[in-house]
Amino acid sequence: MARIVQKFGGTSVADIDRIKAVALRVKSEVDKGHQVAVVVSAMAGVTNQLVDYVDSISTLYDAREYDVVVSTGEQVTSGLLALALQDLGIGARSWLGWQIPVRTDDSHGKARIEDIPSADLIARLETGEVVVVPGFQGIAPDNRVTTLGRGGSDTSAVALAAALKADRCDIYTDVDGVYTTDPRIVAKARKLDKITYEEMLEMASVGAKVLQTRSVEVAMKQGVRVEVRSSFSDARGTLVVDEDEIVEQELVSGIAYSRDEAKITLVKVADRPGVAAGIFGPLADANINVDMIVQNVSDDGARTDVTFTVAERDLEHAVATIEKERGEIGYERLMSDKNVVKVSVIGVGMRSHAGVAKRMFSTLAEKGINIQVISTSEIKVSVLIAEEYTELALRALHTAYGLDAD
Ligand code: ADP
Ligand code: ASP
Ligand code: MG
Repeated sequence: MARIVQKFGGTSVADIDRIKAVALRVKSEVDKGHQVAVVVSAMAGVTNQLVDYVDSISTLYDAREYDVVVSTGEQVTSGLLALALQDLGIGARSWLGWQIPVRTDDSHGKARIEDIPSADLIARLETGEVVVVPGFQGIAPDNRVTTLGRGGSDTSAVALAAALKADRCDIYTDVDGVYTTDPRIVAKARKLDKITYEEMLEMASVGAKVLQTRSVEVAMKQGVRVEVRSSFSDARGTLVVDEDEIVEQELVSGIAYSRDEAKITLVKVADRPGVAAGIFGPLADANINVDMIVQNVSDDGARTDVTFTVAERDLEHAVATIEKERGEIGYERLMSDKNVVKVSVIGVGMRSHAGVAKRMFSTLAEKGINIQVISTSEIKVSVLIAEEYTELALRALHTAYGLDAD
């Protein structure tokens, strides 16, 4: 007998028939004698619709009210799945984030889970009841509803698995595992049987949305056994494992992209100590994450250009924040551009091999693709390019690093 957390993403619960199919999948584990907790996403497209509602009122929205609106999709699917399970004769009950409660910090729109009390849930699991939990939702210290950032149901599932001390956490989605790159863009992408936590973490953090970054962090820290698999087939998926479980390590294990990027350039900023703090301090205070940064050398030693990227959703907030500080910072002009994509190559093999970045730059150059910003970490190289080159860049790089499936 095992204790399992199963998570079903948006496509897996897209309509009533799919929810019934999910109920059958849950039942098959219950029939084997396992204890099952299920985490569900909102129906495919619903969260986007809710976000659009918020945006249509204000792009400079109040994040607390954003959370009230966008957290609702998961409430619907959790109730429906509990009903579908009951219909199959299985004792099931849904528990909203605030009822458990899934305690988070107060970073509305991208909250972090701090604690999930598990005793009551475990007691229910031990009676054979299936516990259904809406993903994505939490509750802040002041008792307001929070959400965990887009894709956050993955994190709900992994954190719940850790709290329940589950034997495994199965993430059911619309592809049958983690691939060398997004299989919807590169037909020759290869499915990985295993991937290390570290590589999965980098892949997720640079845009491979198959798992939310935070879910991999929690899995790695708490030692949760995660398998990514398809809710449409019984094929084995991809196991996320420790480095020592992988025998052969590729130089580059994957390529990821993120369209959720926007570039801001401040033209002719004073080149003096304190300027970076003047720009990035207020952004941090406004809870806006800055990703890539370049500062040019100034011709005259007095003024320079600073370029950086933020999440596309944060662009309006970021521009408003910077413009408010204009007097303090002192720049001539602010330019912004949403028409960019960040493409990254990832691999732990990079630690011991030079030449990965060089191959990336020359491959993009051969295709005539201009690189706007570069950033690197120990096991990753990222470049910012114009969005229209996304597919071309991914396919060319996938071939250049020898990742294509036969
Ligand atoms: P869910 O709704 O089940 O959470 P998501 O849409 O969040 O599903 O994540 C699954 C999607 O992630 C896939 O449909 C695929 O297009 C995308 N994806 C991006 N990179 C990868 C990758 N390396 N391997 C697998 N899927 C990927
Ligand atoms: N429904 C939320 C989203 O679309 C959370 C999730 O599906 O993981 O981002
Ligand atoms: Mg997802």
